[in-house]
Amino acid sequence: SSGTSEPIFTDVVVIGGGPAGATCSTVLAQHGHKVQLFERERFPRFHIGESLIPETYWVLKRLNMLDKMKGSHFVKKFSVQFVTDKGKLSEPFYFHDNKPHECSQTWQVLRSEFDLLMLRNAAEHGVETHEGVRVLEVLWEGSRAVGVKVEDEAGIVREVRSKVVVDASGQSSMIISRLGLRKWDNDLKKAALWTYWENAYRDEGRDEGATHVMQTAGKKGWFWYIPLHNNIVSIGIVADYEYLFKNREGMDPEAIYNEQVSLCPGLQPRLTNAKRVAPFRIAKEYTYRSTKVAGDGWALVGDAFGFLDPLYSSGVLLALRSGSVAADAISEGLKNGDTSEAQLGKWGPDFITGMERMKRLVCEYYDGFSFGRFVKKHPHLKGHLTDLLIGDLFEDKVDDVIEPMNEMRAEKAAMLAQA
Ligand code: FAD
Repeated sequence: SSGTSEPIFTDVVVIGGGPAGATCSTVLAQHGHKVQLFERERFPRFHIGESLIPETYWVLKRLNMLDKMKGSHFVKKFSVQFVTDKGKLSEPFYFHDNKPHECSQTWQVLRSEFDLLMLRNAAEHGVETHEGVRVLEVLWEGSRAVGVKVEDEAGIVREVRSKVVVDASGQSSMIISRLGLRKWDNDLKKAALWTYWENAYRDEGRDEGATHVMQTAGKKGWFWYIPLHNNIVSIGIVADYEYLFKNREGMDPEAIYNEQVSLCPGLQPRLTNAKRVAPFRIAKEYTYRSTKVAGDGWALVGDAFGFLDPLYSSGVLLALRSGSVAADAISEGLKNGDTSEAQLGKWGPDFITGMERMKRLVCEYYDGFSFGRFVKKHPHLKGHLTDLLIGDLFEDKVDDVIEPMNEMRAEKAAMLAQA
């Protein structure tokens, strides 16, 4: 059946109930605004993106999520550890090793459960959350967004009019797809293939929940190794799309996965007693970004704005961060009667600077950057490198590592030229 009914009016419509949408809507409700959030799925639903980084802490605190996180069964994460293509563990990065801090521990989350907690939390803060309701399109008056058209599971279509529309639709990126604002990043055309294992090897103590980034022989790709609760580990390979999948149509993903495992000396021994307990999943997660963070009456948060290669597990942090700073700008705009692009996009330049810092670190790794060698050469910069890895991206101090990185790169180029 299908039908239409009378339009609803609200301050802000949020499209999507993932971490970005839940954050943005909760902060808007905290500021006292009326928010309607539409999520096409019913939660809990599967999602990738399980490893949090410490800087998520500050946003989780603001959202009153800390008690829920501390009371959960999510595995505690204290470090990220890199394993070379030869299977050697290099320098572990414990977060704030010298000066432990309230945010020095973070979590490995099962996203179906984490996202549910976040969405329920939004509702507890007064957001009207609707699950199983799909946004069909954004409504425009000229270049101004004025609301959305939604359809529920019974096929009822209605219009929801608002002063601001927040696109938090993840990689569907409703607004940038519609306006043609997506810019792909040609340096990072990667793909991922992953599954879940029971009883894989777990380190002990504070290393139990460490994320391991394990390079494969020939340095063509890397595995993530993310220990979750209930003795499950999420293990996935990331490499160039062309290398992993091109001209292999119809090939069993298991064969591709096993081939990569056989190339990863760091991983093989960890799987000796493990049993695969889930199907294989694939993401073609080309890195992209919108040319704008906002327009008249609209703003983009999380993956709906941009997506950066998952090497350092920055996705949820960027979703939380953009969700909260966009909410502040939107609230200020609503209070001053200014919902222009300039007002709603105020947070853009700082946010993009932070994202660029993370991207630089991603590209360095793919170009052969060695954390071990860097830290040996510049021990005093280990702290700033760790700051980047925890997601402390929005302060200029971390740029201290850039110049020495450039030098190392130049030295390596000179050596290669000589050889
Ligand atoms: P999403 O979580 O995708 O939420 C968007 C929501 O919008 C969805 O629930 C969707 O159902 C809903 N939606 C979409 N269209 C509509 C519509 N038309 N109407 C209504 N609802 C709609 N990040 C990390 O932090 N750590 C990691 O370890 C990590 N690993 C990753 C590994 C891979 C292979 C990939 C691809 C990503 C990884 N990420 C990781 C990134 C992370 O998954 C995302 O950055 C994060 O989920 C973004 O959150 P979001 O709220 O913007 O989008």
